[in-house]
Amino acid sequence: MPRYRDSVCRLCRAEKTKLFLKGSRCLSEKCPVERRPYPPGEHGRARRRILGYGLQLREKQKLKRYYGMSEKQFRLFFLRAERKRGITGENLLAMLERRLDSVVFLIGFSHSRDHARQLITHGHFGVNGRKVNVPSYLVNKGDVVSFREKAIKHEELKAIVESNKNKAVPGWIEVNWEKMEAKILSFPAREDITFPVEERLVVELYSK
Ligand code: SF4
Repeated sequence: MPRYRDSVCRLCRAEKTKLFLKGSRCLSEKCPVERRPYPPGEHGRARRRILGYGLQLREKQKLKRYYGMSEKQFRLFFLRAERKRGITGENLLAMLERRLDSVVFLIGFSHSRDHARQLITHGHFGVNGRKVNVPSYLVNKGDVVSFREKAIKHEELKAIVESNKNKAVPGWIEVNWEKMEAKILSFPAREDITFPVEERLVVELYSK
């Protein structure tokens, strides 16, 4: 995936919403969206009404950036969601949440999704005891996500887990803090996904 090298906070400001790309800073008063809740740049404060295609595009960009995906990856996920039974938008959201990098972040085993991706590609995680170094790997019901043996002894990783013990974890995942592992109890339902997005607009955009 081509790397975005500018400040990630600019992405949040462009979408006028928190995308939680910077760990604990996102929850602090230092978050730029809290202080400057308008898009960056000279015309950021100008009042602009976004309608139709513009609205659909913004919603897609917001979701894509929240999960840290490239356009190509995101589109492939959409095509897979479209082929499944049920409501395409909800299928898409559930698949995005089930990505291993997303799960690692949701359970508090990393600072952010980007950090989760880094840890996964470095081989620090396993699913059902087997090493998985693919961030887009989709977890299934009954899977157990855990640190690899070497990573469990890593002081820095232990400190991250320790600091996130009070983090609210979605109901479809059960975390065992002692063993530093998490079990997938079910697939995420629409109400489990709290990020404010209108997935219907993303479906409309790609269905043109
Ligand atoms: Fe930056 Fe996080 Fe705030 Fe986004 S939510 S602007 S990444 S601090």
